Amino acid sequence: MTAAQAAAWGATGDHSPLMDNYGSPPRLFVKGSGAELYDADGTRHLDFLCGLAVTGLGHAHPAITEAVAAQAGTLTHTSNLFANEHQAPVAETLNRLIDAGSGQVLFQNSGAEANEAALKLVRKYQGRGRHGVVSALRSFHGRTLMSLAATGQPEKHEPFQPLPEGFRHVVWNDLAEFERSLTPEVGGVILESVQGEGGVNPADDNYLRGVRQICDERGLLLIFDEVQAGMGRTGAWFGFQHAGVRPDVVTMAKGIANGMPVGAMWACDDVAAAFVPGDHGSTYAGQPLALSAARATLAELERIDAPAVARAHEATFRSLLEPMAAVDHVRGRGLLLGVELTPEALAGRKAGDIARACLDRGLVVNGVTPTALRLAPPFIVTDEQIAEGVEIIGAAIAEGAA
Ligand SMILES: *Cc1c(COP(=O)(O)O)cnc(C)c1O
Repeated sequence: MTAAQAAAWGATGDHSPLMDNYGSPPRLFVKGSGAELYDADGTRHLDFLCGLAVTGLGHAHPAITEAVAAQAGTLTHTSNLFANEHQAPVAETLNRLIDAGSGQVLFQNSGAEANEAALKLVRKYQGRGRHGVVSALRSFHGRTLMSLAATGQPEKHEPFQPLPEGFRHVVWNDLAEFERSLTPEVGGVILESVQGEGGVNPADDNYLRGVRQICDERGLLLIFDEVQAGMGRTGAWFGFQHAGVRPDVVTMAKGIANGMPVGAMWACDDVAAAFVPGDHGSTYAGQPLALSAARATLAELERIDAPAVARAHEATFRSLLEPMAAVDHVRGRGLLLGVELTPEALAGRKAGDIARACLDRGLVVNGVTPTALRLAPPFIVTDEQIAEGVEIIGAAIAEGAA
């Protein structure tokens, strides 16, 4: 950070008032507009990360700003002791977009909470003794103890042992191993349709179809964690739709309210019925201020046909990135892409170092594995901005490879 940014941050000096949980931030952003972010020095950056696949409509989108400002001046919070005017319409829209038969929604505030609710729902539906849940290695499902236990990254578990029991992790896209992992105590499986944090690893369509079939045969609940891949980002409203597979439970958060904290869990009717009054709850969940943003965001995503936009931009990104000598391959779907760099391009650096060099040239991306960059730009990005961003990536690579 520059001196001006550090001053604006106000967390420097001998003792920061902030916990060091996220390390030293490299920038302090104070303003955004569309696909652009401005730091406290007024420097423009292109945002190809969207706050981790969240702000799909870009920063300060007028329709969202207007909806939130109006709601803030009307009614922000009443708790779940009472109804509000946004919950049912937003739930109806999610039900329609998920398009997997009749279902119901429970609002939450984040992705981890949506998954926590889903994991509790498995326990409630299946009953004691069938509480086990299978998930994939390299998956990411959140940081609460249950969602962390589901997360297939053992190194993240170690500092927090003992975790809730009953979780087991299987190799991604390996149907035989999935089937072998099933014991009588397993009641559900949670999978991302495209692993986001794990490196942008899409599920094989046949894998998901096979998992669905096995779940049907054994009465297991199939939870799709669409927290990152959902809301149109992969070129379908939800990533599982690419495989034509029916979910029992879907969790959502990023991308649903363009940056306001909203999470949601959807379940098909008979599974949803397992939760009765008193089973679960959250003070803030589904409050009018947050849901006003969700309602406006979903309306705008539908208006622009976000999945089609994602597919068109994916083609543009691939046409520019795939011919580059520095790029081994591009994986992912729609606007959730992993750019695998060649060893020559990395030249001893990690993808995180390349991301940092991009930042210094005015582009926000991140290193999702030591060798791959993640791109999760907003739907409203223009072809000119895509070309500009790809050029910055090329320059950042060339700087160290030379
Ligand atoms: C980010 C993420 C989560 C956790 O969401 P939070 O809002 O950070 O709690 C869960 N699952 C997936 C797939 C994610 O990408």
